[in-house]
Amino acid sequence: LNLLPWPEEFLATADWPAVGRLLRRCVQASRRGLLPHTLMLLGGPGLGREALAIELAAALICRRAETSPCTCHACQRVRRGVHPDLAVLDVEPDRTQIRLEQVQELVEGLAQVPFEGARRVVILTSAQTPPLNWDAASALLKALEEPPGHVTFLLLASNPRRVLATIVSRSVHVHLPSPDAAAASRLVAALHGLNEETCAALLASVGGDSGPLLVGDDAELVGTLELAAAIAPEALRGDVLAIVRLGQLAARSSGGLGLLASLLLAAVERGVVEAEAALNAVIELLRAEYRGAVLHIGAEALVTGAIATIMTSSGQG
Ligand SMILES: [Zn+2]
Repeated sequence: LNLLPWPEEFLATADWPAVGRLLRRCVQASRRGLLPHTLMLLGGPGLGREALAIELAAALICRRAETSPCTCHACQRVRRGVHPDLAVLDVEPDRTQIRLEQVQELVEGLAQVPFEGARRVVILTSAQTPPLNWDAASALLKALEEPPGHVTFLLLASNPRRVLATIVSRSVHVHLPSPDAAAASRLVAALHGLNEETCAALLASVGGDSGPLLVGDDAELVGTLELAAAIAPEALRGDVLAIVRLGQLAARSSGGLGLLASLLLAAVERGVVEAEAALNAVIELLRAEYRGAVLHIGAEALVTGAIATIMTSSGQG
């Protein structure tokens, strides 16, 4: 049984040296009584922030810490999200936002001293608004202003500018450094069941930014991308209407279509056959329900331009 809302691969990043260093620093601060009661763990989804949150939660809750990492029963339950002193606040199934009622219910229970562990830990899977809606953020802020002494809040975010300013100012920020290219491509490969070579090429084509290849929080994007993936093969074969539709879709979306455009551009260098292979890789990614998020490029121009270049270079255009 595992109740955590993340794929296992996200937690495997606990092995990354940078995550380990941050964890040791936080644990040392905690032993000296210097760990702030609210930390904001800043980094892209999947790139270590979830692993740091869980391992830190285990270290704070654990009463034994016999080994490092500790493998006691309590720590193992934290790593599965089933320890009573750990609360993970996430968007509920079939919802798009973290609701006020969820935060209220959580906050009401926090006065209760730890059930078993040394402390209680709250992990918020995204402190950004959305998915944390404005009322919920305000309710959370009240809890952060007067936190019970036995509670530590770990707030995850990729962009602090999308977090309520008063929450930002109440937290101490911990920045997760970007992983190296090899680690990132291993993560993307494991997450989507692709081979590492393909993923290394995908990452190179988006300038090493793994964000769009990992989980984002834009619910509409997946549908847009699926539509784009359905149209793209026609566009590659030279169907003008499909090219125009793809360009229009790209103009409405800043995340995944940017990725698609980058992939097409990368494929141009390798010829049209590889372009189709690259598209298939994108479609596989879509089927794996990946949600791209942050790529601020002129997607319409890139898609249209990339397709035109492919067709020219393959002698069809
Ligand atoms: Zn333990």
